Amino acid sequence: MKALVFSNKKIELKEIPIPEPKQNEALIKIIKAGICNTDLEILRGYMNFEGVLGHEFVGRVVKSEEKKWIGKRVVGEINIGCGICDYCLKNKVNHCPSRKVVGILNKDGVFSEYITLPLSNLHIVPDKISDKIAVFTEPLAAALRILEQIKLNRKDKVLILGDGKLGLLIAQVIKRIGVSTYCIGKHKKNLKILEEKGVKTLLAGEKIPEKFDIVIEATGNKEGFKIALNYVKPEGKIILKSTYKGDINIDISAVVINEFHIIGSRCGPFDEALKWLKKRLIDVESLIDGEYFLNEWEKAFSEAQKSGNLKILFTIN
Ligand SMILES: [Zn+2]
Ligand SMILES: [Zn+2]
Repeated sequence: MKALVFSNKKIELKEIPIPEPKQNEALIKIIKAGICNTDLEILRGYMNFEGVLGHEFVGRVVKSEEKKWIGKRVVGEINIGCGICDYCLKNKVNHCPSRKVVGILNKDGVFSEYITLPLSNLHIVPDKISDKIAVFTEPLAAALRILEQIKLNRKDKVLILGDGKLGLLIAQVIKRIGVSTYCIGKHKKNLKILEEKGVKTLLAGEKIPEKFDIVIEATGNKEGFKIALNYVKPEGKIILKSTYKGDINIDISAVVINEFHIIGSRCGPFDEALKWLKKRLIDVESLIDGEYFLNEWEKAFSEAQKSGNLKILFTIN
């Protein structure tokens, strides 16, 4: 099968063997996949990952010992737990210390024709959700994770930093639940998508006259956290969504003095994301900025890296 493999700091489209599903696993033929900021960070050395890239996908089960799965259109959770540790037994596979993560840690990703995944990672995609939209299940689940972590109040004011793919999903989610939502970004085109949905937007550099109860950092870069510290009220919450290669220098005393709550936030609920997509509670189609075949990967990655571009998809099968 064809697969986009990252090794020795370069990407290559290679021919590699189709993986064989183990017991309780399925072989999935990938239909479409999406390029995420995490994939771009991996190219810069994040997680020191080598192997097939990609973790956002929709596909069809083509082989499994459990016959009822065959032919089903699915999306898949990306964390694969050991199954026996305390975290796995408490259904917190995302924190299993020996987990594998699709396309990020010790497990080949989805920019290839096939992938194997445990059946327990799979979710059937309702017919109403098209392939293009289904690819957004994983990033939307990550946005919805925030609602599992904090209780939002109607009176809260929420600021989202970043008008990239994830920032736009998060801003739509927060707005949709009826909370006052602001987003700061650098791209008029992307902010306009939010303005049409009633989110208040600001261009980076514009003066922000107020502070916020909750600041969600989704810039994808090192500057975001410092900006978050400037705009959160005392006793307010900062939710961190960006992952990147390297570390940052911050005034940690400001956190102590102002008693900020800092919350890291990663993967979220797929069931809930599929519900949102099925009911069309948020718009993901406006976030697609290009579709390519695997052999056009150079163009696809260069488009994904262009500032202001949103989701780039691969059509694989
Ligand atoms: Zn992602
Ligand atoms: Zn485990």
